Amino acid sequence: MTDAERREVAAKLRDMACRANPSWPALMDLLKCPGRAVAVQYLADLIEPDERTCRVVTEMRALSQTQDMHTKSCSSCGYVFGSEQHRQLLPGLGERVAINPVRIPKFCPNCGAKVVE
Ligand SMILES: [Zn+2]
Repeated sequence: MTDAERREVAAKLRDMACRANPSWPALMDLLKCPGRAVAVQYLADLIEPDERTCRVVTEMRALSQTQDMHTKSCSSCGYVFGSEQHRQLLPGLGERVAINPVRIPKFCPNCGAKVVE
């Protein structure tokens, strides 16, 4: 649902309220909804649209036997949040640790989607 669509419906509703005491059939006709419940649901969706979300996509690239580069990006638009180096502290042993962890924003700065893990 776009902002333009919301504004258009709001303008039509205000116009309808000015001219007459709105009836359900007139309201359903204006909203192009087949029933009252659908019309009410449609209005609720206009007021509070589903929030767009994205996930963090991690692309790993080996730099050496003990180091990887992890590039983290937005699953929605591909915007790169950053890259972090992971290093194995003891060769052949233990898990790799991030040297300079990427800070993941709450919202993607490029497409505005909410970042969910
Ligand atoms: Zn994005």
